[in-house]
Amino acid sequence: MKKIEVLENLVDALKILPGVGPKSALRLTYFLLQRNRNGAKNLSDQISNALEQLMHCELCNNFSEEPKCSICLSDKRDVSTICIVEMPTDLLMLEETHSYDGLYFILMGRLSPLDGIGPNDIHLSKLINRIKNSNIKELILATNFTVEGNATAQYIKELFKDVDIKTSRIARGLPMGGEIEYVDSGTLAQAIVERKAI
Ligand SMILES: [Zn+2]
Repeated sequence: MKKIEVLENLVDALKILPGVGPKSALRLTYFLLQRNRNGAKNLSDQISNALEQLMHCELCNNFSEEPKCSICLSDKRDVSTICIVEMPTDLLMLEETHSYDGLYFILMGRLSPLDGIGPNDIHLSKLINRIKNSNIKELILATNFTVEGNATAQYIKELFKDVDIKTSRIARGLPMGGEIEYVDSGTLAQAIVERKAI
């Protein structure tokens, strides 16, 4: 059978999703086109809308429809504490634990010299500015318990060692190599409550 280019392009596009290989991508493509064309149209519209309308909060990098996100603007948050995470999904997971009511800062990555990701690639100057212009008293390092996540936490701790601010690391309830995104919310809640000064 001659290849149909538009079909192939859609299959290729779906392969960017985690866990979707060539076979599942092909199956999803056929599902969307032959069984759920309305759903497919809606999916396509929602992806376009999200890409057009969402930006990164200018204070914390979280996804937001406004320049500043609802967490940064909320008057119910404890503004003396800031929790540093790698990605927006980590923030989401921590929010779901309902055990933390401070602010956040999302690095949008982690230090990874092998992948060419250095301090300039994880918004550290933005973090320094944020802390300089605030009443933050405690910095909670909630990067993943991976080699890169630990190195990133250590680097940030060093960065603020001469500043009058307490730094803590979420507790080791998390498995070594553990990524916050995949930890259940009970364990994560415990990890943040039992955080240790470093
Ligand atoms: Zn924000």
